Amino acid sequence: MAQTKEVKTYSISGKTLTCPICNHTAFWTRETLMNTPGMTFLGIEWANRQAVNYICNNCGHILWFMK
Ligand SMILES: [Zn+2]
Repeated sequence: MAQTKEVKTYSISGKTLTCPICNHTAFWTRETLMNTPGMTFLGIEWANRQAVNYICNNCGHILWFMK
């Protein structure tokens, strides 16, 4: 079963999201719950928070945004 991922450019606070590594501007996204096993090192205050990951479609660098 092929997983479709939508690759597009995004704007954050009026600025085009750009990869800090390769300057690419095409990203796909996923949502991550911060209380998953292995994420607890980030601190208890992050528990049950949801984050949006923007993954660079060119180099795979992940940008994190908290909702
Ligand atoms: Zn990149």
